[in-house]
Amino acid sequence: MRIKIAEKAGFCMGVRRAVNLVLRAVNQGLSPIYTYGPLIHNPQTLELLLKLGVQVIKNPEEGQVGGVCVIRAHGIPPQEKKVLEEKFKLLDGTCPRVLKVQALADRAVKEGKSVIIIGDKDHAEVKGILGYCQGKGYVVSSLRDLEALPQGTPFVVLSQTTQDEEVFELLAEEIKSRFQDVEIINTICNATEVRQAGVRKLCETCEAIVVVGGKFSANTKRLAQIAESQGKKVYFVERPEELPLEEIKKVGSLGITAGASTPNWLINSVVDLLKRHTSKTYALLRSLAISQAYAGLFIPILLLALLLIKGIPFSFSEITFLLFSLFFSTALIFLVNFINRDAFPFFYPERTYFYLSRYFWLYLAGLFVLSIIFGLLYKPRILSLVIIFTLLSFLFKQSPLQGGIDILFYIALLLYLYPLWDNQLLLLSSYAILILLFVKFYLEMVYLQTDGFLPRSFLLAFFDFDERRIKKLLKIILIGLLILPFGLSYFSLANLLFLTPTLSCLLLYQTLLKRKLGQVVYLELLSLIPYASFLLVSIILRIW
Ligand code: SF4
Repeated sequence: MRIKIAEKAGFCMGVRRAVNLVLRAVNQGLSPIYTYGPLIHNPQTLELLLKLGVQVIKNPEEGQVGGVCVIRAHGIPPQEKKVLEEKFKLLDGTCPRVLKVQALADRAVKEGKSVIIIGDKDHAEVKGILGYCQGKGYVVSSLRDLEALPQGTPFVVLSQTTQDEEVFELLAEEIKSRFQDVEIINTICNATEVRQAGVRKLCETCEAIVVVGGKFSANTKRLAQIAESQGKKVYFVERPEELPLEEIKKVGSLGITAGASTPNWLINSVVDLLKRHTSKTYALLRSLAISQAYAGLFIPILLLALLLIKGIPFSFSEITFLLFSLFFSTALIFLVNFINRDAFPFFYPERTYFYLSRYFWLYLAGLFVLSIIFGLLYKPRILSLVIIFTLLSFLFKQSPLQGGIDILFYIALLLYLYPLWDNQLLLLSSYAILILLFVKFYLEMVYLQTDGFLPRSFLLAFFDFDERRIKKLLKIILIGLLILPFGLSYFSLANLLFLTPTLSCLLLYQTLLKRKLGQVVYLELLSLIPYASFLLVSIILRIW
């Protein structure tokens, strides 16, 4: 089956901004946190927010004095805002585009004009805009509503941001023909338009369409209606389990889209379920990615590459050292993930199943046993690292330091290469640390795109999960990766070889900028490329 995902699907800018505002408040440990009305029309996200302790209040009388109250993207009337401000610490999640409509309404009234809002009078956004009209606002949703408009007053016509373009055009034209002094400002947000155009485009090439999102979300329902009007079979689901898999498997090409209130992790889950039941290659790659066992290869690959570059012959000692690093770094990843397993449902539900499976303990115990065996065979004192890093995994719980524990483990292992230390090895080790750091941030950024709640144990928490700051940091690391090899004492061609891992990191950076939906498994496995190229360079240098 061919699966195609709409270019723009899921959270719009305003919804993402409001959700991030709440998540940041949770991360900062603020409490209690309320949202004034349900934050978005997506039951799964609301369920998770409730688990994080975020409660919904419907009027200012509810909630504790001094608590944090978040205004959702739709905005509220200024009168209500004032009341809330007196009781709560207010975080304004009103979408900047809605703020603009509110400001236009406010200005029109101050200029002595009346405001016509083309929209749904029961919609929270419309109620909020009406609040700025000081009694001079009228809501119009059909031609019949035009009869109630007063004559002889200048009008400014605005639209609800999620209004249907055709309905707006029709009503605006009619208003213009009936009244003399009319200024029409189309304030429909293009996020709605773009998503609707996206589903129409999908319908051109797909036999059936899956629409993911809340059943009560107006913009999501509209996407389903558009696909139906194009004669497509539509599967409108809130969660992946609702998909009739046997029926869908018969479809040759399937389009996937989602409303502006659907988080990316939910879209990813739907794509994951479909791909895993329709593609054997995907199912295989997924089984490698889901446990994150692939990350256990990072450190041994770097150590192997260093030994190759230094021309060390592979005796029993080196082999046991590398096997110890392989088994214990994998064990460490499993352990840290297990400690944080409660966080997975919030951004990567598929991973939860592995860490809750009954086989998990078997894998973990096996990895510890193998680490101990190869540690003993190498140097028994290296087993102190097993004890220290196991303890640190628990000690750093809820701290961003836990995210960097494998980097610390790598540094500790470097100490065991002490007899080989020279300027060249130190430089290469630093280069390898930068690769580790870069890939670490890369992977965390992949998860950041899921619109979920990432735990404090991520390195990103050091940067308050601020994507712009992290991208700047990644660029700095890339510059470091570019400069460091030129400090090596090799002749220039060898130095140039080191551009390969640097370029693979650059490739990862480029994929981060695009990060298409439903690609988490591939994006994760791509993280192996810088390590593979570092190993390749070391093999070439060894042969040289
Ligand atoms: S649809 Fe547009 S106006 Fe409405 S919240 Fe999203 S970005 Fe803002």
